[in-house]
Amino acid sequence: MTDGAERPGVRADEHAPTTPGWNCGSCGEEWPCATKRGRLLAEYGGDRAMLSVYLGSCLAAATEDLRTAPVMSLQDRFIGWIPRRR
Ligand SMILES: [Zn+2]
Repeated sequence: MTDGAERPGVRADEHAPTTPGWNCGSCGEEWPCATKRGRLLAEYGGDRAMLSVYLGSCLAAATEDLRTAPVMSLQDRFIGWIPRRR
């Protein structure tokens, strides 16, 4: 189960964002990709407040990097997908 081609410290299935483009480093979708969203939900165990704080910091960084993108669409992309509590 070793892959000599992998860079040290970077796992191929990490689904981490690449900057400044903010695409997924694993699957190439716009970050957070579907896989990453599922992992974030699992990781934060439904704690929407903490997840919102984390994604808000990502959004702030992405807004700096993606100056030509509409802010509202970035908000939808980073935060709008979080399931709302009923
Ligand atoms: Zn991905």
